[in-house]
Amino acid sequence: MFLLITKYFYCLDPSLPKIIDRPISFDEQRIKLTLEYLESHYGIVQENPTILPRMVVVHWTAIPTMEATFNTFNPSTLPNTRSDIQSAGALNVSSHFLVDTDGTIYRLMPETTMARHVIGLNHCAIGIENVGPGVDGKLTPAQLESNVILINYLKKKHPIKFVIGHYEYQDFVGHPLWLEKDAGYRTEKVDPGIEFMEAIRKQIN
Ligand SMILES: [Zn+2]
Repeated sequence: MFLLITKYFYCLDPSLPKIIDRPISFDEQRIKLTLEYLESHYGIVQENPTILPRMVVVHWTAIPTMEATFNTFNPSTLPNTRSDIQSAGALNVSSHFLVDTDGTIYRLMPETTMARHVIGLNHCAIGIENVGPGVDGKLTPAQLESNVILINYLKKKHPIKFVIGHYEYQDFVGHPLWLEKDAGYRTEKVDPGIEFMEAIRKQIN
């Protein structure tokens, strides 16, 4: 019955995203590591690993499939292969949403729980990962359509002021939202590509 009602609702309003909840593990260890990350990187001390979303950061996974990406994000701790960011804490990377190449949107964790996906801004940023890029170096038209619908939905739901590509995050160094304490903790990013962000910005509300 619920499914029927949900389907009917989506038919009524095609601007609402169809979201499939596929939660990654958020066990006691991940909660503890997230609280530690909030304190050590941002000076934020909280009882719960929650955020007030004010930004959306769009990514690509650089992992070729949805399943492989899910399996990468699912453990609570970083694998040994991430020596580039390991010194900044054992909390594993993740994102709130994962958009497959066919445009299917998966929600991996609650929108108001902190995910580790962007240096300096995790305390206020919802992350959208897109499976890709493909062999042509691009994300797909279906992913673009889903990102636009999803971002418009998130902007209505939360006080989102900024929508950025991961490659733009260092523009926020010195901004009031930038809280990273470690001046040496930076990685260079190109995802999800300038072209994709320009297309998103043309289409979002
Ligand atoms: Zn990224």
